[in-house]
Amino acid sequence: MEAPYAKLEQLEPGIARLLAHNPSAFTYYGTQTYLLGERELAIVDPGPDLPEHVDAIVQAIGGRPVVAIMCTHTHRDHSPAARPLAERSGAPIIGCAPLALETAGPRADAAFDGDYRPERALEDGEAIAVDGQDVIAVATPGHTSNHLCFAYRGALCSGDHVMGWSTTVVFPPDGDMAAYMASLDKLRQRDDRTYYPAHGPPVTNPEQYVRGLMGHRMQRERQVLKLVGEQPRDIPDIVANAYPGLDPRLVTAAGGSVFAHLLDLERRGLVRNDGDQWTAA
Ligand SMILES: [Zn+2]
Repeated sequence: MEAPYAKLEQLEPGIARLLAHNPSAFTYYGTQTYLLGERELAIVDPGPDLPEHVDAIVQAIGGRPVVAIMCTHTHRDHSPAARPLAERSGAPIIGCAPLALETAGPRADAAFDGDYRPERALEDGEAIAVDGQDVIAVATPGHTSNHLCFAYRGALCSGDHVMGWSTTVVFPPDGDMAAYMASLDKLRQRDDRTYYPAHGPPVTNPEQYVRGLMGHRMQRERQVLKLVGEQPRDIPDIVANAYPGLDPRLVTAAGGSVFAHLLDLERRGLVRNDGDQWTAA
């Protein structure tokens, strides 16, 4: 299958999609930018700053007014095109908050877009009217602390919180497993009919899908607890046992997710750590 790079796909009335050419082990075929609205638009997740992608978005806008450029979070595959697109469309950047880094040290890892500066950050439940319908911010921390989903006409742009092709990477310290689980539970209690993720196909059975994701994480948690209950282990040892046959490109991400589980379990008093060794408490 040839992925539809730079080809505008109309998914339903008022929701269209444009795929950026940044395929990888983490982005699937690439980042999907959504155009919400008809006579006027909001652009969700403008994506990486690739000139041909920004050109394709500008062409898809076709001179229509753009009310807002909205980012779900500030990873480099989502927000860097916001500024060039704002310059070319005149639209404000309104959406997730810039990431508040506690230190400028190792936490400011390469995945983050440190240059992101929104005109306005939306709080949970805040709305922007587009074509007479609200785009509503749904705060969904976990993948990142600043992650928002955007609800529009019964659909939800789910960013990287819920993806259509893979489970989400939860990488501490900004990624937080307890927050991620709470954000999944928050979506489970909503009644959005379809999710449009930043990576992968639409999710047309959201409730069942989100339940499956929660079940998967709970199973992973039990597995981590069992492994550290057998003997003290470090994270690479847990990854080797919990993810047999893992694609080597994903070992670091899996280590991050295991670390996120361990930190959550530690907060709940179920594990403790000594240096790089983790043990059941
Ligand atoms: Zn992404």
